[in-house]
Amino acid sequence: MEPEWYKPYRIKMVEPIRLLPRADRERRIQEAGYNVFRLRSQDIYIDLLTDSGTGAMSQAQWAALLQGDEAYAGSRSFELLEETVREITGFEYVLPTHQGRGAENVLFSCLVDRGDVVPNNMHFDTTRAHVIHNGGEPVNLVIEEAFDPQSPHPFKGDMDVKRLEALFEEVGTERIPFVLLTITNNSGGGQPVSMRNLRAVSEVAHAHGVPLFLDAARFAENAYFIWEREPGYREKTIPEIVRETFSYADGCTISAKKDGLVNIGGLIALRDRELYERCRERLILMEGFPTYGGQAGRDLAALAQGLREVLDVQYLHDRIAQVRRLGERIRERGVPIVEPVGGHAVYVDAKRFLPHIPQREFPAQALVVELYREAGVRAVEVGSVMFARTDPKTGKTVYPKLELVRLAIPRRVYTDEHLATVAEALGAIASRREELRGYRLVEGEGPLRHFLARFEPL
Ligand SMILES: *Cc1c(COP(=O)(O)O)cnc(C)c1O
Repeated sequence: MEPEWYKPYRIKMVEPIRLLPRADRERRIQEAGYNVFRLRSQDIYIDLLTDSGTGAMSQAQWAALLQGDEAYAGSRSFELLEETVREITGFEYVLPTHQGRGAENVLFSCLVDRGDVVPNNMHFDTTRAHVIHNGGEPVNLVIEEAFDPQSPHPFKGDMDVKRLEALFEEVGTERIPFVLLTITNNSGGGQPVSMRNLRAVSEVAHAHGVPLFLDAARFAENAYFIWEREPGYREKTIPEIVRETFSYADGCTISAKKDGLVNIGGLIALRDRELYERCRERLILMEGFPTYGGQAGRDLAALAQGLREVLDVQYLHDRIAQVRRLGERIRERGVPIVEPVGGHAVYVDAKRFLPHIPQREFPAQALVVELYREAGVRAVEVGSVMFARTDPKTGKTVYPKLELVRLAIPRRVYTDEHLATVAEALGAIASRREELRGYRLVEGEGPLRHFLARFEPL
């Protein structure tokens, strides 16, 4: 039975934004080395760089801030968060961190040794960097459909279970400290992972005596897709689906800047006491005392509230339908996108959109720059700037399979009118796409180069 959908909020506070004249936009992007990470927020009209930490909090969250307990140890706000996370995930042990990568740093430094291999459906950039930093090798095992932007597969975030089994055969259980699943699959288009796949991956990992952890930044959006698409889940509530999701795992890292509905924060939640105690030691060293972990007491309080709000199916429907509408508007203007549209973003397929720009000239970066020029819209490149690597054996550059431009939608921030402007801008660019030229990287290296790189137009 389909619920009656409605928009479950109205706007109480507004933040002014402005559109700079085109000549100014041209100058600003040039000064920024054609890297939108180097632009100032006030020079941007519609900021779709990320959905991370850019959402609007509710009145209940703002009220919770005022009730934050700032005690160094034993904070009441921590207890509130701990209780909430236990209830939502079923995990007994909860550690707050300053954000998702703090959680990765603590957990991975406990578990990853030199020479280890870490399988994931697809590593997010900081996750990948933390595996490498600890001497491990990140391996992506997402199903083949994930690399076909036109495949209508309903769960393109699923891991290829056969390849996971083959990896265990090949490298052996001792060198795989854990299996990861990223829900939803951020780097692969915000695509969901099915419950069926969660169950299957969990079985394989556990059959080898290896734990499964979830990189669960968008656990609620993933649950919505399961509710919408997976047989047998229509009669279940979002909290039930979320609870089942976590039941197949041994723990999770969460960036609270996404489905936590807060601007900063993260957490680790675990089932195993011994691992929790090891993580807790490192947490004190790296993040802070275990009842604050790099967050203010008020942040913990707002997060506890956000984690409850995000489970509202009306909120989730409104959110995912808005992203989907943007995708439809863009596609109607003849711009190829990754389909089906994922949870938090629309991904433009720059390889198909700009076939005349080879990967070594960064077609997705070219489109990101053009979109800022055209309409003051900031998107982000998810292609060769972010993922091209030099093969240490051959010295050759290995390019990623996809060249995408991600339009990430902040939660509860922009109206459909804002997003219509974005679709129109892409339509305008589409009508003169042959004129676009590629870029040359002039500064920046390493796995996180995309944040600080500089480019020159060709
Ligand atoms: C954002 C994100 C992270 C990192 O979290 P931060 O809060 O940005 O440090 C890790 N994994 C996924 C899937 C993410 O989306």
